[in-house]
Amino acid sequence: MSKKYDIAIIGSGPAGLQAALNAKIRKKSFILFGTKELSKMITKAPHIQNYLGLPSITGEELKDKYTEHLENLNIIITEDKINNVFSMGDYFVLMGQDNTSYEASSVIIATGIAFGKPYKGEEEFLGKGVGYCATCDAPLYKDKTVTIIAQNSESEEEANYVYEIASKVYFLPLYKGNYHLKEGIEVLHARPIEIEGDTKVNKLITTEGVIETDGVFILRESISPKQLVPGLAMDGKHIKVNQDMETNLKGCYAAGDITGKPYGYIRAAGQGYIASLNAVVYLKDADAFEVSQNTPQ
Ligand SMILES: Cc1cc2nc3c(=O)[nH]c(=O)nc-3n(C[C@H](O)[C@H](O)[C@H](O)COP(=O)(O)OP(=O)(O)OC[C@H]3O[C@@H](n4cnc5c(N)ncnc54)[C@H](O)[C@@H]3O)c2cc1C
Repeated sequence: MSKKYDIAIIGSGPAGLQAALNAKIRKKSFILFGTKELSKMITKAPHIQNYLGLPSITGEELKDKYTEHLENLNIIITEDKINNVFSMGDYFVLMGQDNTSYEASSVIIATGIAFGKPYKGEEEFLGKGVGYCATCDAPLYKDKTVTIIAQNSESEEEANYVYEIASKVYFLPLYKGNYHLKEGIEVLHARPIEIEGDTKVNKLITTEGVIETDGVFILRESISPKQLVPGLAMDGKHIKVNQDMETNLKGCYAAGDITGKPYGYIRAAGQGYIASLNAVVYLKDADAFEVSQNTPQ
């Protein structure tokens, strides 16, 4: 049986890192998902002037400071992208790439806002030819045509994997670079406009023409919270939280840009701290409830 963590933290930006820091100090078992590069929202900042105690620092320097702090506390980042979080009542199941699953008693969503607006037809055909995890769903496209809309170079590995199963793979990179793709994958420099179909996807309309396709994988940096956690209450594109960073789902917290404006490092880290503190309180209360339930009358 897989290990059940006290807290699963999704996101390696300031909100997720601060949440992890607090979980570590409070001696909780936790798993932190993201990348060792932390967050592009940190490294992209040319010059940060509003960070208390660090009067003039670049994003790269801030990232180095965060990394040093994590190393000092022996906090490890699990490099997996979480595609789904399912609430099972008193615990959560998180699905990563390659159908890896994790279990945790509580979850903190700190995924930032880099998910963009959905394409026309994307929500309508979700699960009917539209997907966000190519490696998870590739077996559904055996001998079929698949189109991959790729926001970053990590998508290349997924495209190469799908190519082993599908009969044809189109790759639409929305970034510049040297693409490390298997020979046979067709790279198209076009912008997606709309996904069309009847009961299932059959076309992708792009700026350069129409692609006949059985499936479209949209591989963004981040997945919209509505898709990530079914049943999560939203306020526009942000997750609805109260002052304790609680969402509408028991044991599920959110922190950082994903909870609303103003976007910023200090706010994100502060909310990560609050979310983590309250997750610890939640775990204690849940334990107390379990003990009282199991105590013979
Ligand atoms: C160019 C630029 C300059 C900026 N300058 C400033 C500034 O000077 N001062 C300031 O206060 N703010 C600034 N900001 C804003 C600041 O970067 C954000 O407010 C802050 O990074 C938000 O932190 P966060 O933890 O909420 O999310 P993010 O930093 O966006 O981190 C989210 C992390 O979650 C990961 N993730 C997302 N989905 C998943 C998933 N499904 N599974 C696993 N991991 C996932 C992402 O890869 C990312 O690492 C700037 C932003 C930009 C782009």
